[in-house]
Amino acid sequence: MPVESSKLLDGKGLAQKIQGELTAQIQTLQAEIRRPPGLAVLMVGDNPASAAYVRNKERACERLGIASFGHHFPAEVTFDEVKQTIHDLNDNPQVDGILVQLPLPSHLDSTALLYEIDPDKDVDGLHPLNLGRLVRGESGLRSCTPAGVMRLLAAYEVELSGKHAVVIGRSILVGKPVSLMLLAANTTVTMAHSRTPDLAAVTRTADVLVAAVGKPGLITADMVKPGAVVVDVGISRQEVEGKARLVGDVDFASVQPQCSLITPVPGGVGPMTVSMLLENTVWSYRQRHKGSYNS
Ligand code: NAD
Repeated sequence: MPVESSKLLDGKGLAQKIQGELTAQIQTLQAEIRRPPGLAVLMVGDNPASAAYVRNKERACERLGIASFGHHFPAEVTFDEVKQTIHDLNDNPQVDGILVQLPLPSHLDSTALLYEIDPDKDVDGLHPLNLGRLVRGESGLRSCTPAGVMRLLAAYEVELSGKHAVVIGRSILVGKPVSLMLLAANTTVTMAHSRTPDLAAVTRTADVLVAAVGKPGLITADMVKPGAVVVDVGISRQEVEGKARLVGDVDFASVQPQCSLITPVPGGVGPMTVSMLLENTVWSYRQRHKGSYNS
């Protein structure tokens, strides 16, 4: 059945629009601040998926006029070497955002490294201080994928207040922060996870269903309330007829006809994540400039 475009939450199109707006903002701000915004992406080893994500981020920076301060370390780099680089970037006034591309090789403690990033440059929003600000409802850098989900829902004017949201997945990267953001938007939130018995009984009650699991085809039509809004955060690589394809957690073909809005994979949440990273970098650029005015 052909997909009606009116039913798609088009993250790709929205992400492009946001990046266009950011480009214009950077041009205006740069005239005043007299330097471009700067983003440092730290990568360790040669994980091909991570390398592709990093390339993608660096290309987006180039398009928008954000300076890249990337570091690519060999897989055997020590914790102290990465930590020292983070400290140097914390002290570098040209750098507004720092992110460590995950996953890291097992000998590096990613949580401990996250603590080393200056929270005001933590454009991935994963530093405990920024997660604490999210819990408290204070402004601060928000993690990119959950922020991208919320922006997409807002752009399509999805009514959230008083609705029931079900989030599947409880990771610190996606499930927990997106649940807090949905709660802040006045939905009643249920969090489901790998130990939830009868997942379908829970998901069928959702007005807004967010799947962040990483299991292709987990969500089938019988698990979705008619008219629900479905956001598929999952990304898995699958071989289909000898070709690698990206697929989400939702069985798109069966679910799409009965929901009111749905994100495609690819082209849904993925591109929004990159745009939120760029937006966070520009936000930090502006905040740090304002800060220097105040000091
Ligand atoms: P994770 O592995 O840390 O967490 C997965 C969660 O799913 C866990 O909380 C677990 O309890 C839950 N889960 C596992 N099996 C389940 C089941 N059978 N039923 C219900 N819940 C189950 O993963 P993550 O980092 O949160 O990422 C989740 C997915 O989102 C992955 O596919 C990842 O690639 C994708 N992702 C996409 C983006 C993006 O930009 N679109 C960003 C980050 C992550």
